[in-house]
Amino acid sequence: MPRVLAPQATYDEELFWRGVKLGKLLIARCASCSRLQHPPSPMCPQCGSVEWEPQEASGRGTVHSWILSHHPTGPDEAPRIVALIDLEEGVRLVSNLQGLAVDDVKNDMAVEAVFADVDGVTLPQFRPPDEAAI
Ligand code: ZN
Repeated sequence: MPRVLAPQATYDEELFWRGVKLGKLLIARCASCSRLQHPPSPMCPQCGSVEWEPQEASGRGTVHSWILSHHPTGPDEAPRIVALIDLEEGVRLVSNLQGLAVDDVKNDMAVEAVFADVDGVTLPQFRPPDEAAI
């Protein structure tokens, strides 16, 4: 049994998941007023436009909030840290934290995106920034 189900992207979400397959976080930017929207939606809530363009996010953000999820977890799998990430571009997304003990997770801590292959499905995940790369 796979640990994750492949994303079933809607028409609006296709932009985001196409980026994830390429190792990029693509955020929908309104072609009319430049508002960023995530999750993507059919119509810009600010100006009513239905035209969207991709904007690549830096991948840098902070933890807004998080939980420790015990379900569904296989017998040899640790519980997952599910987090709400504030990207520096100003939108939020739900993801998982990697490379952290649960006692080390703090709200507002800096994280960066990484792309993990989970049972053949590429998923955006977040971890503390690689200090050596800064
Ligand atoms: Zn707009």
